[in-house]
Amino acid sequence: MEEYEVQCPWCGEWVEIAMPVDMVGEMVQDCEVCCHPWKLVIERRDEWGDPQVRVDRSD
Ligand SMILES: [Zn+2]
Repeated sequence: MEEYEVQCPWCGEWVEIAMPVDMVGEMVQDCEVCCHPWKLVIERRDEWGDPQVRVDRSD
């Protein structure tokens, strides 16, 4: 697992998330602070590259 910091689109808090090192694609997770759902979109340039993580509000 690796850790990544994302800013919650609901409450604005920075929250550390853990995800598998080979994780790519979309994943839904709740904010630990406000419990609203995120839609995380994870992209990597290559297998070992740093992830680019986008966070959007999920329904
Ligand atoms: Zn939040």
